[in-house]
Amino acid sequence: MTFRHESTSGVLQHTAKGAAPAINPFEEMANRFDQAARLLKLDPGLTKVLREPIKEIKVAIPVVMDDGRIELFIGYRVHHNIARGPAKGGIRFDPHVSLDEVRALASWMTWKCAVMNIPFGGGKGGVICDPLKLSRNELERITRRYTAELMDFFGPEKDVPAPDVGTDSQTMAWIMDTYSMHMRHTVTSVVTGKPVSIGGSAGRVEATGRGVMIAAREAGKAHGVPLKDARVAIQGFGNVGSISAKMFYMEGSKIIAVSDVNGAIQNKKGLDVPALLEYMAKKKTVVGFPGSIPLDADDLLTIDCDILVPAALENQITAENAKDIKAKIVVEGANGPTTHDADEILQKKGVIVIPDILANGGGVTVSYFEWVQDRMGFFWREKEVNERLEEMMVQSFGDVRDMAAAHKVSYRIAAYMVAIQRVAHDMQVRGLYA
Ligand code: GLU
Repeated sequence: MTFRHESTSGVLQHTAKGAAPAINPFEEMANRFDQAARLLKLDPGLTKVLREPIKEIKVAIPVVMDDGRIELFIGYRVHHNIARGPAKGGIRFDPHVSLDEVRALASWMTWKCAVMNIPFGGGKGGVICDPLKLSRNELERITRRYTAELMDFFGPEKDVPAPDVGTDSQTMAWIMDTYSMHMRHTVTSVVTGKPVSIGGSAGRVEATGRGVMIAAREAGKAHGVPLKDARVAIQGFGNVGSISAKMFYMEGSKIIAVSDVNGAIQNKKGLDVPALLEYMAKKKTVVGFPGSIPLDADDLLTIDCDILVPAALENQITAENAKDIKAKIVVEGANGPTTHDADEILQKKGVIVIPDILANGGGVTVSYFEWVQDRMGFFWREKEVNERLEEMMVQSFGDVRDMAAAHKVSYRIAAYMVAIQRVAHDMQVRGLYA
C-alpha cells in the first residue's frame, strides 16, 4: 500500500506505508547503479555521465474539461541516455507522478533496453492526473496536447513512447494520430503498444506478462522451483499482473492470491484464472470474485508462496516488510517495487530476486519488434513474435546469471552490470563529441 506524501520539494512521491521520509525512486536507482559501477571499476567520468538523465522536459497541459472548465495538468518527459538508439519508454498517467519518479523510470529503461540488448536508449513520460476520474474525451484531450507539446522530442529515430501505468493502446493511437497530423503523413513507428490494426504488433499486449513468466521459469530452473504446481501471489492486476496470472496458470502454477487497488483475494487451492479474468473485465476489480476469500492487501506480499510477483508500483517491498517475505523467488513485474534496503534483507534471507530491468523486459522487447515491423511495413505472426521474445528473454537471463555467478552478486546488481557494461562500451566506441 502507498499513500501520498508531500516531499520538501513540494513534489508528490510514493511512500511505503508508515515509512518516513519518502523513498525517492531516482535515488533507489542510483544506489544500485553506484554499486554496479564500482564493481565494474567504471571510469569516474563515465560514471557521472551514465548516472544523469540527459534531458528533462516539463510541459503544462491546459485542457477544456467536459463541464467547460479549464484545467491545467503537468506532464514530463525525460531522456536518460540515447547512446544505443532512440529514447524508449512508456508514458504514465497517475496522480503520484513526479519528476524524480520519471527520472528513475527513464534510467531503468536505459538499463532494461541494454539488458535485453535492443538498440534503444531510455526515456519515460508522465502526466499528473487520475485517469479513473477523467472521461474518455478528457483523456484524449490531455494525450493530444501532451503530444503536441512534445512534437520536437518524439519521433521514430528520437523518442518512441509506449503504454505504462494508466495508459493503453487507445492512448497510443491518439499519440500516433496527433503526431501524424502534425507531420502531414501517417507515422506508425513513433509509438509502440498501438492497436494491431494501426501498426501494433501481435503479442505486444501479452509481452510483459509472458516475459515475467519466462524469467520466473528460468529462475525456477536455476533454483529448484518448477512452475508446475508453484504457488504464485501477484500484487497488481493491470496489464502486467493479469497477463502474468494467465501465463503462470497456463504453465500449471497455482495462483493463490492477487490484489488490485481495491483489495486482495486468495484461494489456497488456486484461483480459477480464466473465470477471474472474465470477472475482472466485467467488474473492473478482483474483489468479490466467487471462489475466493478476502485478504488484507498488505498481507499479499508476505503470504506463504513460492513465487511473488509485485506488478503494481514502486517501493512496495521495503525494509519494513522484507523480513516477512516467504516467497522463494520474487519476480518484479513492476518497475522499482523493491527498495535497496529490502534487497539486502532479502539477499540475507536467501530470497532470489529477478529484477525489473530483466523480469519485465519482455514488454519493451516486443515494442522493439513493433517498431521494426512498422519501419519494414511487414508484420509477423504472433508465433514468430513469441518465439523471438522467448529467445531474447532466455539469452538475457543467461547473461545476467553468468554475471551474477562471476562476481558473486545478486541478479539485480548483475543486471545493472550487464547493462552498464553495454552502454559504457558503446559510448566509448562512439567517443565524446566536443
Ligand atoms: N512501460 C513499459 C516498461 O516499463 C514498456 C516500455 C516500452 O515498451 O517502451 O517497460
